Amino acid sequence: MSIIDPSQNQQARLQLIEQLKRKGIRNLAVLDVIAKIPRHKFLPTTNAIYAYEDHAQAIDCGQTISQPFVVALMTQALLESGTLENVLEIGTGSGYQTAILSQVCQHVYSVERIETLHQQAQVTLENLNINNIKLRHGDGTQGWPEHAPYDGIIVTAAAKEIPEALLEQLTIDGRLIIPVGRQYVQDLLLITNKAGSYVIKNLDSVVFVPLLPGIEKS
Ligand code: SAH
Repeated sequence: MSIIDPSQNQQARLQLIEQLKRKGIRNLAVLDVIAKIPRHKFLPTTNAIYAYEDHAQAIDCGQTISQPFVVALMTQALLESGTLENVLEIGTGSGYQTAILSQVCQHVYSVERIETLHQQAQVTLENLNINNIKLRHGDGTQGWPEHAPYDGIIVTAAAKEIPEALLEQLTIDGRLIIPVGRQYVQDLLLITNKAGSYVIKNLDSVVFVPLLPGIEKS
């Protein structure tokens, strides 16, 4: 795993960490990794100045980088049962959530349907020397069966319903975190695989861009 230099924007990063603590993020590993990863490197130069504000921001291709609080909440929920070995992310986008996961999980796989974003994220993550991740251009509603089963799956786009393929790729006690609902508001669900039955917990109300079928080529 790479050690990332937190020296840039130190003040703004510490303020962000204080905000996340006030909003209820308690997991020290999560707070530590958010302090370490340079979020400004995942944003277009025009809005990189807002990188350490606790807001979602626009990235290319009409997509968004998630709000740091939501990234922290999802990562904290994923880690509740301890360190994870094999994690799948659906919706690489900027690669920011992938980078966060890379520091708290052993292997991270991430799928993105828009080729341009997939390629940009590949470059960003390589520049940060993050090498325990594998990215793929594809439709994440099918998961990534070749590397399954996963002890954690995070979906960072809003689904109308829970994709069956993702449930099938969970280990026993594996956790799926996914926003499910209508276009402008979704429930962030934590679903745990209890040997064929699924325990569902509602974590929060969130707004994500939609999970779409198929792929877009550049
Ligand atoms: N985790 C990202 C959030 C990006 S927004 C980040 O930290 O920046 C959600 C992303 O999900 C978008 O890039 C969108 O193109 C992607 N997406 C939507 N439907 C998808 C699908 N079926 N498979 C893979 N990616 C998908």
